[in-house]
Amino acid sequence: MSPPARLRVVIIGGGFAGLAAARALRKHPVDVTLLDRTNHHLFQPLLYQVATAMLAPSDISVPIRWALRRVRNCRVLLGDVKRIDVERRVVLVDADQREIPYDRLIVAAGMCNAYFGHDEWEDHAPGLKSLDDALRIRRRFLLAFERAEAARSEEQRRRWLTFVVIGGGPTGVELAGMLPEVARAFRREYRAYDPTSLRVVLLEGGDRLLSAFDPALSAQARRDLEGLGVEVRTGTRVTALDQHGVSLADGTRIEAEEIFWAAGIAASPLTQGLVPLDKSGRVLVAPDCSVPGHPEVFVVGDLAAIRAPDGSWIPGVAPTANQTGAHAAAMIVADLHGGPRRPYRWFNKGDLATIGRHKAVARFGRVNVTGYAAWLLWLFVHVLYLAGFRNRLSVVLQWAYAYVTFQRGVRLITGSDTGEYPVPDTLRRV
Ligand SMILES: Cc1cc2nc3c(=O)[nH]c(=O)nc-3n(C[C@H](O)[C@H](O)[C@H](O)COP(=O)(O)OP(=O)(O)OC[C@H]3O[C@@H](n4cnc5c(N)ncnc54)[C@H](O)[C@@H]3O)c2cc1C
Repeated sequence: MSPPARLRVVIIGGGFAGLAAARALRKHPVDVTLLDRTNHHLFQPLLYQVATAMLAPSDISVPIRWALRRVRNCRVLLGDVKRIDVERRVVLVDADQREIPYDRLIVAAGMCNAYFGHDEWEDHAPGLKSLDDALRIRRRFLLAFERAEAARSEEQRRRWLTFVVIGGGPTGVELAGMLPEVARAFRREYRAYDPTSLRVVLLEGGDRLLSAFDPALSAQARRDLEGLGVEVRTGTRVTALDQHGVSLADGTRIEAEEIFWAAGIAASPLTQGLVPLDKSGRVLVAPDCSVPGHPEVFVVGDLAAIRAPDGSWIPGVAPTANQTGAHAAAMIVADLHGGPRRPYRWFNKGDLATIGRHKAVARFGRVNVTGYAAWLLWLFVHVLYLAGFRNRLSVVLQWAYAYVTFQRGVRLITGSDTGEYPVPDTLRRV
């Protein structure tokens, strides 16, 4: 007699939620297939440090295959999932629409950059969601200094040294806070660079930075950024942007050659066949994280729209992704044993954002922490959650080195937006 067929679980995405789900299924009699279109798990909270030449891409990522090497019932496949057919219970992968059947599906494909209906802005204002995005920002940031050094007039130099960051959430705040710190390290190397000509502008449409944080922390973050010389403008909406600057709703314009986007994200298009969706395309999941009407499909991590007990939306952060991924796995195990499904219970681990070299804002429960103490906490938490001992060691060493010397380890200008070697052409761009 042949053994009973094992449940086939397919996980889409090897981010925080996908890995947590695969690991939680490790000791159970299921066959797991994890699909991701990249071969690496990425620690997105430190992406801005790759973008500002502090860390190398390999410091904040590990091969998914390696991360799951001990999860013997999981095979990892490199593949871009194009569509989910919930009626036939298959996912369709890559251009040839290869079909992979499932008994249970966990969708953990995360979010992507969104430009509020202005996709053309992406060429001029790269977002920060993947390693490629971070390397693109790094290239543009470093090239701006090269161009400023070769500038033929002060006016031209000032334009190259004006950086606009759009979006005052944690990503925008961390990126804007890091730019003046990095520029400081360049003082001795660029002969024409005068630090007073550096201008970093942070634009936020809402009335305060870090809108998901306690208002006192938003105010502190603003003060810290202004202390670093960042020009913070809240209540400021961008109406247009192009290669040479941004236009604002109040009719003014900021001339800047480098603009970075941290203002909007939208759900992976994979959710399109799943309902109901909220306005950013996230799935309004049932309390157990499954899709209403499809208890065999779970949506977890950033893609799941879930309300906290007080009615607010649970934030799309790494701890939520870990928790929801593990919860979906636990519900699959409950199905195996004929047990009941339970609602997901959010455990709020707090808010954390860093500002520059040694300041941060944090909230744990009802306690606000700011300044150096919050920064130490930020360091500890980020090292703790980084995947792989090699990466932890490398990051700690590089942070220590940079802290003492102000030097950046990864100031490499590589690749190009056009596919051509970047320097001669772009230096000619005036
Ligand atoms: C710049 C930045 C800074 C952040 N800072 C913090 C922070 O300080 N603290 C914090 O808690 N959170 C932070 N976050 C948020 C946190 O990173 C996310 O909440 C978390 O990554 C969500 O995990 P996830 O598993 O849902 O999705 P992701 O981590 O985005 O993983 C999704 C995976 O799915 C794969 N995928 C997508 N589409 C497909 C497809 N069609 N086919 C196959 N594979 C696919 C992707 O390649 C990726 O590997 C930050 C995010 C960003 C972008």
